[in-house]
Amino acid sequence: MALVQKAPAKINLSLDALYRHEDGEHEWRMVMTSVDLADYVHIAPSPTLQVTTDSGFLPEDPRNLAYQAALALQRAAHTTLGAEIYIEKHIPVAAGLGGGSSDAAAVLRGLNELWGLGYSRAQLAHVGLAIDSDVPYCVYSQTALVTGRGDTITPLGAVPSCWVILAKPRVSVSTPSILKAIDYDHPLDRPDTKRVVAGIAHHDFAEMAAGMSNSLEQVTAKRHPEISALKARMLHYGAQVAQMSGSGPTVFGLCEKRSRAQRVFNSMNGFCHEVYLVRVLG
Ligand code: ATP
Repeated sequence: MALVQKAPAKINLSLDALYRHEDGEHEWRMVMTSVDLADYVHIAPSPTLQVTTDSGFLPEDPRNLAYQAALALQRAAHTTLGAEIYIEKHIPVAAGLGGGSSDAAAVLRGLNELWGLGYSRAQLAHVGLAIDSDVPYCVYSQTALVTGRGDTITPLGAVPSCWVILAKPRVSVSTPSILKAIDYDHPLDRPDTKRVVAGIAHHDFAEMAAGMSNSLEQVTAKRHPEISALKARMLHYGAQVAQMSGSGPTVFGLCEKRSRAQRVFNSMNGFCHEVYLVRVLG
């Protein structure tokens, strides 16, 4: 019998790049939450491992992060069990919304069930870390403080209720090339992560919003000025806070009231390649 795992997109309420480790990896401090825009990963028993998607362009071999997740779990569990995995894509690709990582995490959760492994979320997150630094968070897909190399997940309470407008311009951003361009010798715009965490703890939207920002925004926006234009437009039409997610290029805006979010959404529709109006999952 097939099982279906929801793989939600993530946004970074705060993203702070602290320093580069000697092996080239980055030390992060971020607050992440998930939104109601999701891929669906269908998993059925099969003697072999197969990954297919409805995207028309994503690889269906070990270059797919979902395939990598299945291989990593096979290795960790010393099993040769297979599965037929079909990914129904809805999250824009290479957008800063963690779609590939969320698919990988959904595969880890789904295969854990299908193969009866009995792994805890923490064990699955550990297996996922080798695939991408966003995978451990995506295994939980619940609002969290994420530190270290993406491996330390501290669950926070639900984000104060709000609507999210996502706007993805028609530009491709390579995460590795943005991460390479971070210059730690020059000060980055830094979020006040403590304030974001306190805002969430106090159910205080304004306090959370006051601490938000993304250190990578200035790096990506230098190459793609449309990011700054999208952000300015969102704020002009009433978003209470707006910033880039991940390494971009998607910009998101938050509004507490649906009517206000709808006005921002309408102002972006037609102005930007892909626009969504969704809720935070909490
Ligand atoms: P990152 O987590 O690196 O910031 P992102 O959220 O910006 O990523 P993704 O949609 O995860 O972007 O895609 C990143 C890269 O991973 C793309 O080059 C894409 O081709 C590749 N990829 C591999 N598997 C998948 C998948 N299942 N879904 C989306 N992208 C995938």
